[in-house]
Amino acid sequence: MMKFKNMLVAALLFMTGATTLTAQTEMPPIPVDEAVRIGKLDNGLTYYIRHNEWPEHVANFYIAQRVGSIQEEESQRGLAHFLEHMAFNGSEHFKGNDLIEFTRSLGVEFGSDLNAYTSIDQTVYRVCNVPTTRQSALDSCMLILKDWSNGLLLEKDEIVKERDVVHNEWRLGEGPSQRMITRALPKMYPGSKYGVRMPIGLMSVIDNFKPKTLKKYYQKWYRPDNQAIIVVGDIDVDHFEQKVKELFGGIKVSPKAPKVVPEEVPDNDEAIYIFEKDKEMRVNQFMVFMKHDATKPEDKKNMDYLIEVYVKAVVSNMFNARLQELTNDPDCPFIQASGDDDKYLLASTKNAFTLMGIPKEGREMETLTTLIRETRRVAKFGFTATEYERAKADYLSSLEKAYTNRAKITNDAYGNEYRDHYLTNEPIPSIETFYQTMNMLAPSIPVEVVNMALPEMITDGDKNLVVMEWAREADGLTYPTEDDLRAAVAKARAEELTAYVDNVKDEPLIAELPEKGTIVSEKEDKLFGYKELKLSNGATVILKPTDYKDDEVAMQAFADGGNSLYDSPEDINNLKLFDEVIGVSALGNFTGTELEKALAGKNVNANLSLSNSRQWVTAHSTPKDLETMFQLVYLYFTNINKDEKQYQNLINMLDMALKNMSVSPDLVYSDSLANTLYCHNPRFQIPHVEDLPKINYDRILEIAKERTRNASAFTFIFAGKFDEATIRPFIEQYIASLPTTGEPAEKPRSIQTLAKGEVKNQFTMKSESPKAQAREIWWANSPYNLETAVKMDAAGQVLSMVYLKTIREDESAAYSCGAAGQLDLNDPQPVILLMANCPMNPDKQETAIRLLHEGMQNAARQIDADQLQKVKDYMLKQIDIDAKTNAYWMSAIDKMRTYGVDVYHDYKKTVEALTPESLSRFIREKLLSSGNHVEVIMLPE
Ligand SMILES: [Zn+2]
Repeated sequence: MMKFKNMLVAALLFMTGATTLTAQTEMPPIPVDEAVRIGKLDNGLTYYIRHNEWPEHVANFYIAQRVGSIQEEESQRGLAHFLEHMAFNGSEHFKGNDLIEFTRSLGVEFGSDLNAYTSIDQTVYRVCNVPTTRQSALDSCMLILKDWSNGLLLEKDEIVKERDVVHNEWRLGEGPSQRMITRALPKMYPGSKYGVRMPIGLMSVIDNFKPKTLKKYYQKWYRPDNQAIIVVGDIDVDHFEQKVKELFGGIKVSPKAPKVVPEEVPDNDEAIYIFEKDKEMRVNQFMVFMKHDATKPEDKKNMDYLIEVYVKAVVSNMFNARLQELTNDPDCPFIQASGDDDKYLLASTKNAFTLMGIPKEGREMETLTTLIRETRRVAKFGFTATEYERAKADYLSSLEKAYTNRAKITNDAYGNEYRDHYLTNEPIPSIETFYQTMNMLAPSIPVEVVNMALPEMITDGDKNLVVMEWAREADGLTYPTEDDLRAAVAKARAEELTAYVDNVKDEPLIAELPEKGTIVSEKEDKLFGYKELKLSNGATVILKPTDYKDDEVAMQAFADGGNSLYDSPEDINNLKLFDEVIGVSALGNFTGTELEKALAGKNVNANLSLSNSRQWVTAHSTPKDLETMFQLVYLYFTNINKDEKQYQNLINMLDMALKNMSVSPDLVYSDSLANTLYCHNPRFQIPHVEDLPKINYDRILEIAKERTRNASAFTFIFAGKFDEATIRPFIEQYIASLPTTGEPAEKPRSIQTLAKGEVKNQFTMKSESPKAQAREIWWANSPYNLETAVKMDAAGQVLSMVYLKTIREDESAAYSCGAAGQLDLNDPQPVILLMANCPMNPDKQETAIRLLHEGMQNAARQIDADQLQKVKDYMLKQIDIDAKTNAYWMSAIDKMRTYGVDVYHDYKKTVEALTPESLSRFIREKLLSSGNHVEVIMLPE
């Protein structure tokens, strides 16, 4: 059989009339970006070092290992992941918890900026957003990488403590999907270790392994020849190259060290049918895999690989658009479906064209038949020229967007690219090269070439076919046999197919342009650097040009009112799904599908939503698609229409998702929490399946019209990359022309009904694996000012540190636990809330709950100065990162204009002024003194 990409190249050469070349001619190599310094030490260690100034004054450090759980012996199942945990519990230069403490003193938060993951074939650690002000701090980060690479202590006491932590992590992840995948994998991968190497491993191993078993894995696999060091940021490349050589050059690798051998996935001649069920599964789900060989890492270095990547991207785009269009037909047997050529679930050595589908109840076998039918239709007739035009336009416009923003590529993005280059040989050309190459390639690849690639991805026989269904288990249900599944596939194969017909609406988004309005006055705000325009229809426009992202213009329009203005029980029910229903409605003359097609090649979106106290229209675009964004915004204000088909689909989907809520511990918990916290106020309840038939689509559209009829009450804030000369005509055409009533702005009403006093709701829930969960909420009414907001944020962070230490580290009573403080402005009467959340180990629930209470009571008396200092350092660093986003400035301008609160200029001063005494006094006198404390606890039955 001809190899996939050779065929593509041959087809391409044939179509473009290049007669002197053949497919065997080697395509030119993809040039590696010259801005990254890549090197390899004698012992095999690879490094990537790059100077990058976005964001400026910070750097990221990574160590990537090309080993994971697949390297484990049977007696080591789960230890690759366990080892990753031990990397934060003692090493040569950072004893005990010193590593977490040290990085926190740099303003690096454990869990986000300091983290790691273990997958089946890779383990990656990172320290990100380290301030570059002190060279010694950066050098210490190199020492951290060095310790991770071969300096972990793996002490017995620390191992014992961590067993519970990992066990709790397993418990937290236990759910229907985890249980079913564990049972299904050995059937998906017969004869391959992929079937028995989920990284979380076996709890029998985690609870009992001897320290030396862990050490054996560490010493055997964590070696320079399996490792890459990556440093990206505002740094001196020469210095770090020298550091890498100094720190890692001396490590020896035994010539007898075992090689990392890719784990193969055998072909299957007969189709594999897998069926799994679980009592907590709420909806059924299909997965169909058509396996084929993956492109080997060594075959990714030449230009033909870029053709392959491109073809896969457009195929996925076109195929998913077809499935999406099918779901709009009320008679479609599935709620949702997608298809993509990707890894064969976990295996990097095998790819598969992978289909997923969520069937409507009772229509499972039809769903399977339809999925197979559509792949056959595509394989037989190919895609149409118009489908391909849209997919190509989408591809090129994303490329254009990325290229436009090329000066602002983040350290994170580079870090991930270099990781993938090391681990799987993904190409790393410069953005300029990539942009030029793809802009030449894509237009020269005709749809016929794309279609010629399809039979290699989509196979029609039993060979390498894997079909899997996951189903809801309940009394009275019947389940398909293997024969039923086989028959559903056979049915599709026996059908006579016709080609797909692409219906496209060829008309402008707005049939007739409205009469332009004008800008009647303007003034500048020096403090926040924006211009304020008053329009002839009374609307207010704020222009805040920025250059944080060269490819983004963001807009937020808002006016007071929101759903607080409606209070009949019928409307409260309608409003629960307002955002979702509006999201699937037609705009102007365009249904969702038609709009999707009409917007092909454009990077733009907009939507209308309601919060308790406001109505919002938000939108994003690239500078290039700015006018289209204005048109969408105009349509949300003037011309939202019914799309009955999409609406019915939404209701069907919600019906399925909500119907079997009572078997899901998570949903049952959320439901109880909302009811207890808001005193059963129906506004704050999560939607129930009984509510769906009572929803009135006409009424929702009527409410949408009411909320948008008066443009004069709205403030439109634009932030991003635009120039005034371009945007002003759009403002006059599409904003100044919006209808207005001339009435004054409405006022939102207070609708908040938080439970007062000491309220406790403890209940039990029967589930497949015992789950325990606690949420503690302390709240009080409070006026809005910057100091209160800063104190709430800091209080939440300090408590999180306390809980992590006491509940997770010392007592192993939970895998995760945390707290967050906020000042909620979503009501005319602001409240401050401190919420602590803890999914507990059921055996230690009493300890966990006691510590949740104690942590808060102690904080009200005394706060640890050292902990608070770390929180302050983090906040001072984070504000500089946040203040480089358009979203931050839209919010800051809003708060200044609406509440007179300057959240920016006084921020650092306010943070710096925090003392342990002032913070604990605040908790004591402003928060706890209210006496409002809500506790919701779920325990296993
Ligand atoms: Zn973990």
